[in-house]
Amino acid sequence: MPVIAILIGLVAGLAVWVVLDQVQSRAVERIFGRELSMRLDLRARESLIRFDQYMTNYAATTRLLANHRRLAQYLEPLFWFPGEEVDPIVYDEFRPFWLPDFFGRNALLAPSHVLLVDSRGQVREVYQAGDAPLPPELQGNVAQWLGAGDDMQTVLARFGDRPYLVVSDQVEDAGGYTMGSLLVVVPVDADFLTASEGSFSADRSAVALVDADEQRILASNEPQRLMPGTALSEWTDTYLVTSQSLPAYEGSNWNMLFTTFIPQQIVAKMSGKVVDFERNQRLIAALVFIAVFTLVIYLVSARLNKVLKRMTRFSQRALGIEQPGFQRGGNQLVLLEEWMQHFTSLVLRAREEMRRKHEHEMRETEALKAAIMEASLDSIVTLNRAGSVIDYNPTAERTLGFDRQTIIGTDFVRAHVSPTHRAIFVGLLQESNRRGNLGERPHARTELEAIRADGQVFPIEVSIVPIELDNERVYTLYIHDITKRKETEREIKGLARFASESPSPILRVNGAARIVYANAASQPLIAAWQTRLGGPLPERWCGQVRRALQDGGTYEEDDDLGATIYSLLFVPIQELGYVNIYARDITAVRRAEQESRQHQAELVHVCRLSTMGEVATGMAHELNQPLSAIVNYANGASRRLKSGSGDNETLVDAMTHISGQARRAGEIIKRLRALVGKQQPIRSVVDLNYLVREVCGFVEFETAKLEMQIEQRLWAEPIPVDVDLVQIEQVLLNLVRNALDALEECPVGGRSLVISTRRTDGRAMVGVRDNGPGIPAERMDQLFDPFFTTKESGMGMGLPISLTILEDHQGTIRAESELGVGTLFHVELPVAVSEAVAGQQGAPEAQPVTAEAPVRTERRMAEGMHG
Ligand code: ADP
Repeated sequence: MPVIAILIGLVAGLAVWVVLDQVQSRAVERIFGRELSMRLDLRARESLIRFDQYMTNYAATTRLLANHRRLAQYLEPLFWFPGEEVDPIVYDEFRPFWLPDFFGRNALLAPSHVLLVDSRGQVREVYQAGDAPLPPELQGNVAQWLGAGDDMQTVLARFGDRPYLVVSDQVEDAGGYTMGSLLVVVPVDADFLTASEGSFSADRSAVALVDADEQRILASNEPQRLMPGTALSEWTDTYLVTSQSLPAYEGSNWNMLFTTFIPQQIVAKMSGKVVDFERNQRLIAALVFIAVFTLVIYLVSARLNKVLKRMTRFSQRALGIEQPGFQRGGNQLVLLEEWMQHFTSLVLRAREEMRRKHEHEMRETEALKAAIMEASLDSIVTLNRAGSVIDYNPTAERTLGFDRQTIIGTDFVRAHVSPTHRAIFVGLLQESNRRGNLGERPHARTELEAIRADGQVFPIEVSIVPIELDNERVYTLYIHDITKRKETEREIKGLARFASESPSPILRVNGAARIVYANAASQPLIAAWQTRLGGPLPERWCGQVRRALQDGGTYEEDDDLGATIYSLLFVPIQELGYVNIYARDITAVRRAEQESRQHQAELVHVCRLSTMGEVATGMAHELNQPLSAIVNYANGASRRLKSGSGDNETLVDAMTHISGQARRAGEIIKRLRALVGKQQPIRSVVDLNYLVREVCGFVEFETAKLEMQIEQRLWAEPIPVDVDLVQIEQVLLNLVRNALDALEECPVGGRSLVISTRRTDGRAMVGVRDNGPGIPAERMDQLFDPFFTTKESGMGMGLPISLTILEDHQGTIRAESELGVGTLFHVELPVAVSEAVAGQQGAPEAQPVTAEAPVRTERRMAEGMHG
């Protein structure tokens, strides 16, 4: 491969050589020719300028001379008389007095003659520098060689076969009066031309003055080579000749040319150098080309090798084709071409497959799009840039009422947007354009009023999505009929007014217990809380808010603000993190309850008093016994003391009896006080058995009167109940007294009253059973009605009050009765929670009898009736 690369490089280099030879040589020649002629031209101009400059120097020096003081003095008219014919004085051996050596000082060749001419043009004096005689044209009157008026004149004249420079200037005295003229004559010969060109002619080029008419050289700076008198045509073979006219020197008596000669040899040498240079360049270019081309070919070939190897692997791996050519060697380009053909055919096949697949996908996409358009719940309308409808889905047909075929091509705004909302729609379109240009999302959307085909106006929400197609921007409008939503919103707004119009305070607080909403009726409550809308709830309700949000439960609590009592209902909305507070002014309710409680207590007391009135009778009788015993013992003792018969032991015994009886009387009185006393209900944990024993104690007198005894079948263990001791005693006393009343009708000896206590899970039970006449079935329903009584002195309030008391204690009471057999009243109460305390209380005897000093573990003021 490297050999092929080098060969190709060589061939390419050769081709470059040939092409450059053909193209570059000619171009270089052309450029060189142009350059040469320009340089020659320039060279000739420069020579002419120098020549001209040299002559100007003579003119300047002549003027200097003419103005010289010495010359003006010399030409004083005293010496020269007008009209006088004189022979001019010729100085040929020495320089005259009036002629200082200005020319030598200015590095100019000395003039051959300097003539002093008087004001009439007569030559008066001549200075002659060499042997050459004054040309005949300058003898006698020389007026034609003098400048007109004050002007000085420089003329290239031809006298005989020789050119001369003739410079004239007027000589004036100090007052500006013309005294005469000075005429300087310089032969323009080889020396003159050499001096004018200076060192400039060192390159073997020459200059000459040529007679234009004769085309003959008059003077040259190299007279040996370019002999004066020879024709110009003789030199065109050996020199490149450039002639320029000298129009500046008017007044000349011949037609002259200034000619520059450049030897052809120099030109040939220069062009030879250029050709050599160009050849070298061509060689270098060709060599560089060979090197670069070889390198490039080599690199490409190496790269190609790699590519081929990689392609072999690729074909095997990706396309599964074998390309044995690469392994077998040979021309890689041919192999590559083969491979490419094979590869191209495979690619074409793959492309065809892809096209089919793509078409299939496109069809599927189209079908999907059509299905989406069909199934969309929103109306989808597509507009072109001009706002005309180009697509309209079935929902749009249904919602907007137009047939797809009819609406396509019409202006959407005019057909579907109500006139008052058209500006909004146009604004939305512009907004969607702006967002589309900036690539912003979400798309522009708004609500406006649309018109149906039948002219009905209805609210819609429209969203515009601009879509950039290849050559156009279209707009897809998603239109949603929001009639229902608007109605719902109106309804919600209406419903929302419930809260604001409610006469009771309604508030909403957030998770941080800050008031986020409060209706007008909440103002007094908020003021009493010393907070405001947006402010925090009072500290005491923050925990309630947290609890309600945590467990989702509803809580109702009273808030006693002194003058007003509110019932607050905390209802959490967990999903929103809010708690709604519904407040109710329950001041009146609570007052009524308070009053009713008071009334009830008073009623209970009245009842008790009535009961006690009867009990007290018995008790008073009972009191008689200890009192008369005391009297007896006291009388006996005093008698013995008076008689002195009483020994100490007897007296002490009497005293002991007296004090025992007095204690008994005191206890009876205490019981009475306890029953009759009016006090606040107090709850305490007491043993139910103890209460039963107490009540039996109260009625001892009555049982004794009936000649019977109450049978107590009490539970072996204490039964703790959390009750108001006095009230439950009243209930039990009431039941026992009713039973005793009933038993009055039974014969003595056959009377039985059994009080039993029992305990089951969490319930304490008392049964009061008598074997009285029983209660007729028709009365059973009325037993607990107020004022129902069958007794002459009865009030009919015992059982209703018992029922109320038990309900307050979460207890129950019921009656079972059978005529002729007896009656059972069954009372149930909840067992006290703090059972341990009741257990510790030990024997019932330790229990207090009165409520003034109850043995208590905890006591609290009851709320409501009792709880
Ligand atoms: P009062 O005792 O003043 O009549 P109560 O409400 O205590 O009022 O009793 C209402 C009525 O129930 C009694 O008048 C009586 O007829 C009837 N009653 C109550 N207890 C018994 C009982 N143990 N046996 C028969 N009747 C009874």
